[in-house]
Amino acid sequence: MVKPKTILIRGGTVVTSQTLLDADVLIRGEQIQAIGHDLTAPRGAESVDATGLLVLPGVIDAHVHIQLNTGIYASPSNWQVESRAAAFGGVTTVVDFATQFPGQSFAEALKARLAEAAPSYIDYAFHMMVTDVPPGQEDMLGDLVELGIQSLKLYTTYRPNYYADDATLLRLLEAAGRYGLMTLVHCENDALVTAQTQSLIEAGNTGWRYHGASRPALAEREAAARVLLLAEAADAPVVIVHNSIGATAALVAAARARGQAAFCETCPQYLLLDNTLYEGSEPWRYILQPPLRDPGEREKLWTLVAEGAVDMLVTDHCDYTLAQKMAVDDFTKTPGGLPGLETLLPLLATFGVGDGYLDWSDLVRLLATNPALIYNLWPRKGALLPGADADIVLYDPEPTDTLTVERLHSAAGYTPYEGIQVQGRVVSTLRRGTFLVRDGEFVAGDNVGVYLPRRPLS
Ligand SMILES: [Zn+2]
Repeated sequence: MVKPKTILIRGGTVVTSQTLLDADVLIRGEQIQAIGHDLTAPRGAESVDATGLLVLPGVIDAHVHIQLNTGIYASPSNWQVESRAAAFGGVTTVVDFATQFPGQSFAEALKARLAEAAPSYIDYAFHMMVTDVPPGQEDMLGDLVELGIQSLKLYTTYRPNYYADDATLLRLLEAAGRYGLMTLVHCENDALVTAQTQSLIEAGNTGWRYHGASRPALAEREAAARVLLLAEAADAPVVIVHNSIGATAALVAAARARGQAAFCETCPQYLLLDNTLYEGSEPWRYILQPPLRDPGEREKLWTLVAEGAVDMLVTDHCDYTLAQKMAVDDFTKTPGGLPGLETLLPLLATFGVGDGYLDWSDLVRLLATNPALIYNLWPRKGALLPGADADIVLYDPEPTDTLTVERLHSAAGYTPYEGIQVQGRVVSTLRRGTFLVRDGEFVAGDNVGVYLPRRPLS
């Protein structure tokens, strides 16, 4: 066991969600003890020179699927490998999902997932995928509070396993609101997606290149509008996940402007990639739901991110392997989801901050502060404040790197961002005062992360 100690990070530029300041950070044990100018190192403290580096709070990726098993496809990767990749990318906390398979209690679902996550190097919490709550038994959601789970996930698509019809959505939203739980909803109108997919199948057009066409943007927009309406009627806070088009994020922003507790996320893949890639030579790389969209949507989404209409930037990381993605040139038989944990911060530093859509404080707000607040991890996580966990990334904004699978660490074995140039590099990552990555080397030893139980919203 690597014992946490006293560390003074000196001479860096500390980035909070409000401001940038030239300050030192004193870490004692697992927590930040002080932030200030020219702090004196206590006797025995280890001094870390951060001159020229940005000192960021550890990234919280609030939407990931590590070692995912949908019942149809199972990723052969594991938490040890993927959390190591995450640490190389400056991610110190993830909120993943525990799936309630039919007939299972929430406690059983969480127990199975906790066992899988035990070797994780970074800290973790879970949203519960709620699939089986019969009418009249909505008080089952109270069990989530006991388990330290503050958020649940519902789907408007994927029959028959995950799909929730409108009546189910409404009664679960109502119950979630009563218990102070946040509800995340995957929004795609199931009938529109099914009809479009069916007509492609009938025409014999099932190759990867037709994936984008199978899930129209209107399906997302319609479902998001409907879910926002249902959440408003239920008086329940809601997160519309992985917005892939500007119109969805704009709907959420408008709902919030009317006073609704509605939030949204988008992902680097929707900001940086588009559906022209389905016509290219490697369309298998981009099979995900929702799919990549028209090129014009990228700029619309960036503008909304810059305006503050988007609350969180997440990866929706899936570690399905190259072999699984390429097994058969048929979008109906290819597991959906892209790896992204390790590339999240450098991509957004490059194309968000570098291209002028965001400043560093905005990036901290989107990658740490907001997810911590929305999912009730604040102020233990997401904050560079005395008393907070010492989850810290030292980021060098100077070097230029080319993203390539040879230098990444996910078991996926490919990246959708192959060959893209990024500005800056994660130098070191500390999780609760322990170096996971130091000067580019993985040094965590056997020091593993912990489960983060969360309380309901007040
Ligand atoms: Zn997801």
